[in-house]
Amino acid sequence: MTWRASVLTLFPEMFPGPLGHSLVGRGRETGVWSLETLGLRRFTSDRHESVDDTPFGGGAGMVMRADVLAAALDAVAPDDRPRIVLSPRGRPLDQRRVQALAAGSGIVMVCGRFEGIDQRLIDARDLEEVSIGDFVLSGGEPAVFCLLDACVRLLPGVVGSEASLAEESFAAGLLEYPHYTRPRVFEGLTVPDVLLSGHHERIRAWRLAEAQRLTRERRPDLWAKLEASSEAQ
Ligand code: SAH
Repeated sequence: MTWRASVLTLFPEMFPGPLGHSLVGRGRETGVWSLETLGLRRFTSDRHESVDDTPFGGGAGMVMRADVLAAALDAVAPDDRPRIVLSPRGRPLDQRRVQALAAGSGIVMVCGRFEGIDQRLIDARDLEEVSIGDFVLSGGEPAVFCLLDACVRLLPGVVGSEASLAEESFAAGLLEYPHYTRPRVFEGLTVPDVLLSGHHERIRAWRLAEAQRLTRERRPDLWAKLEASSEAQ
């Protein structure tokens, strides 16, 4: 069954953009996933096709209108897909949420622009707010590229080897170990001996130790979670 993405955006011409290339692009060509874009201007009712207006209460910038966005959302046939609005105020996206979304039938996504979206749309349509990190983009579209790329690569048949998905960063709550390939010496730097040993058990142990070291050093927050869950077991 095709995993379906629907995107509501002021800039439908930005799509598929980066999602048209490489593994994710091929997945779309082969029907693993599909992409529908709904350009918001189509859903305006005035002759200026306005999708935004000045904020009640004053202040800088423009706010996207709830009525226009609701008309666009309601044009997407109702189904069981989660409806997400990309927002720096949302719950930070993580691999666990990505896995859950990839395991479903797809996502409907709303891209904000300007100062953001009239709160009543989020309330009235019960949208899930998702952030891709603690920084501010100029619009939701680049966030959708990230969200969809992360989901689609987990769909069966997109990434060649399932093993590479099982071992990567966050899969087991750890950052991934470092990688090396040819040449064996690069600018005087060699490759850790163990990786050339052919000794699979020692290689596995080295990689796990490196993954643990990197996680401890760089992401004490992830490390603390792992320790808490292993104590609980
Ligand atoms: N005034 C808002 C920022 C608006 S940025 C604030 O201070 O919170 C315009 C749009 O870009 C947002 O509506 C959202 O759709 C998108 N966006 C910006 N940063 C984002 C992030 N970190 N994650 C997801 N979407 C983001």
